[in-house]
Amino acid sequence: MSKGILYTVSAPSGAGKTSLVNALVRSNPEVCVSVSHTTRPMRPGEENGVNYHFISHEQFEAMLAQGAFLEHARVFGNLYGTSQHWVEQTLRSGMDVILEIDWQGAAQVRKLMPDTVSLFILPPSLSCLRQRLTGRGQDDKAVIEARMSEAINEISHYVEADYMIINDDFTVALAQFQALITSQHLRQQVQSERHAPLLAELLSK
Ligand code: 5GP
Repeated sequence: MSKGILYTVSAPSGAGKTSLVNALVRSNPEVCVSVSHTTRPMRPGEENGVNYHFISHEQFEAMLAQGAFLEHARVFGNLYGTSQHWVEQTLRSGMDVILEIDWQGAAQVRKLMPDTVSLFILPPSLSCLRQRLTGRGQDDKAVIEARMSEAINEISHYVEADYMIINDDFTVALAQFQALITSQHLRQQVQSERHAPLLAELLSK
């Protein structure tokens, strides 16, 4: 079985990254999303093991010491990490894996796995970003302001990504994301692994 493709998807908070990734995964059964570990407290509506594996600081440090994380970073004062074992096992099974991680994590993954395809999602404007952060209604004003300045920092790393999508119209952004996934599947190297028997037959005479 051929190996799946690894994607990192980064974006400033409020760019609509999670909604886009969820919609993409719903219509692509061969693509799945890694559930990160975090020390961040659970938000209303979140579920342990679904949105994140919510763990204590001590548990995180223990996993880090064991080398359990493919990448990890501190974001907004909380620790986040991606399970190396889960990612490797899932890729080996032939599934594509999306890591919804910040620019620091994406840089670490790119270094370790240079074949990784990195995508950056941007909001159409700063005022739209502010509106989306406020509209979510899950964080207080101070948190929103902190996230606005963090957003500018995150945005400044867009040049490090291979691909970029502006999430103005959700339907358009999703179609662009789908086009990216399709284009990666059509790469000659990927296609020749997937269709090895066909190629062998075509070249048999
Ligand atoms: P939130 O706590 O709002 O879900 O996410 C905050 C930020 O942490 C987002 O930019 C998100 O992409 C990032 N993040 C989530 N999981 C991980 C992870 O496993 N590794 C890294 N490096 N960043 C993560």
